[in-house]
Amino acid sequence: MNLEGKIVLVTGASSGIGQATALALSQAGAKVAVGARRADRLKLLAEDAPGEILTLDLDVTDQQSIQNAVAATVGHFGRLDALVNNAGIMLSGMILGADTTEWSRMVDTNLLGSMYAVHAALPHLLESKGTVVQVSSTSGRIASAAGAAYSATKFGITGFIESLRQEVTTQGVRVVVVEPGFVSTELAGHITDPAMQAMAKTMADSIRTLQPDDIAAAVVYALNQPDHVSVNELLIRPTDQL
Ligand code: NDP
Repeated sequence: MNLEGKIVLVTGASSGIGQATALALSQAGAKVAVGARRADRLKLLAEDAPGEILTLDLDVTDQQSIQNAVAATVGHFGRLDALVNNAGIMLSGMILGADTTEWSRMVDTNLLGSMYAVHAALPHLLESKGTVVQVSSTSGRIASAAGAAYSATKFGITGFIESLRQEVTTQGVRVVVVEPGFVSTELAGHITDPAMQAMAKTMADSIRTLQPDDIAAAVVYALNQPDHVSVNELLIRPTDQL
């Protein structure tokens, strides 16, 4: 896919990896629809991007909101060539005594939100022979203590995406899973458990973390491959992270 003039929808583009990816795609010549709940952040992104950006109010926990975002993208640009399923939250904590509403929020956002986005986008991607890029995590390959529910969502979405790949690859739709290690973003700032917050900060201070641009570059690499090349999985860790 040469990205010039391609239409890409990026979810969770108001900060971190999604924001950097939207910018990188715009710099590569794509027209980008960006969705998230913080409209003010999306507006700033649209001002910074070199190419055309369509900003969308999007809450991925609301299936109708996702359907509206996909419809608005196709309505505005006329087609959809790629979906970057990036919106996500990480509310780390131990299982014992957990606030299970945090589990529900992660499942609704990271797992169901991504699944609904695929469901809404797929008819258009079949038409364009497009691509789904799913941002999963190293936590979708290796589980660890205090990451149970987050890992459950990331293992879950990786399984969903592999099924998707088998259903659509022979119809020309490519599927990419991106699995970052520790990236410096706002993600850990939403953790409510002070001990977990402190652990994330110690980790961030002790290694050279990845930056959002590092992951954006990987997404652009995968999307830039010729049609017959399907980069299915990209596992990217900071060199210093075990
Ligand atoms: P950020 O917190 O910076 O970005 C998360 C993005 O998701 C924001 O744009 C946020 O927008 C959006 N989002 C959250 N909830 C919703 C919702 N209900 N509807 C729409 N958008 C939503 O973190 P990252 O950039 O780090 O996270 C991006 C993805 O990368 C996530 O899926 C995360 O799991 C994954 N990841 C991150 C790693 C890291 O170390 N940072 C490592 C591995 C994977 P808004 O709040 O405006 O709605």
